[in-house]
Amino acid sequence: MTFASTANVVLFTGATPRFADVDPHTLLLDPEEVSRAITPRTRAVIGVDYAGQPCDWDSLQKLAREHGLVLIADACHAPGATCRGRPVGSLADLSTFSFHPVKHLTTAEGGMITTDDPALARKMRTFRNHGITSDHRSRQEKGTWEYEMVELGFNYRLSDLQAALGLSQLEHLTNWLERRRAIAARYHEALSALPGVEPLSIRPEVEHAWHLFVVRIDPEQAGVDRDSLFDRLRARGIGVNVHYIPVHLHPYYRERLGTGAGLCPVAEQAYRQILSLPLFPAMSDSDVQEVVEALQETVQMAGVQ
Ligand SMILES: *Cc1c(COP(=O)(O)O)cnc(C)c1O
Repeated sequence: MTFASTANVVLFTGATPRFADVDPHTLLLDPEEVSRAITPRTRAVIGVDYAGQPCDWDSLQKLAREHGLVLIADACHAPGATCRGRPVGSLADLSTFSFHPVKHLTTAEGGMITTDDPALARKMRTFRNHGITSDHRSRQEKGTWEYEMVELGFNYRLSDLQAALGLSQLEHLTNWLERRRAIAARYHEALSALPGVEPLSIRPEVEHAWHLFVVRIDPEQAGVDRDSLFDRLRARGIGVNVHYIPVHLHPYYRERLGTGAGLCPVAEQAYRQILSLPLFPAMSDSDVQEVVEALQETVQMAGVQ
């Protein structure tokens, strides 16, 4: 239950991704399903902090230790989230962030990886710099022109202009998170009275970063299914969306790996029911109210018909 690139990166290394299903209440990677998917050839586990809620990293870390695996967090939704007071970015061996314009922070394009492992950090700095072990700053400091290329790398550097934009964005993160949390709280309160429109569960030990506010539509109770609710809300100018098409259902994965329906039944069933409501820091209280009223009216009208 993620954007396709979470799995694409595995293919880029020459490895093969195996998909594990998610927990039905949170849509976060289910550690028991991960345990079932591990084989002697498994090298790493990637979890996604879906919608801005940290995965059960404690259980995943335990599995990773037992099997000697590297743990990678796709934390693109979750800058500023915490688990038991520990920030996202420090919960896995490597944590990846995207600064695409739709995310919490943007550098227009680009991203960031955090780690507390100095060897991995060194390797990533070399990799992003054509496989060269020093950059112009370290050469300047040492007063030398010499440099060594030790492996095949790329130019994956974020430009200084983008870094400057990112730093100015970072100053707003606390306020923006606070606003996202306040909007999420309003949605929770309003939706508790609306049958068939159920927000995802929140794990008690986490502080959520609310990249997405995802509800599940129970067509029996709501009297309307996700697809028609989506159409009706869009027709009223409400920018609802669906996150995501489960990766293993994309044509590329079906063709390349033979994946398809039935592989991850929990994700597949959720996919038919989920709807992301508008959520962004500049949203006013009356914007939130407008979304809630549109939902209420659409569901109630469907109930009357
Ligand atoms: C945005 C996003 C990505 C991809 O980020 P890019 O900056 O486009 O590489 C990967 N995973 C998740 C969960 C995302 O939301």
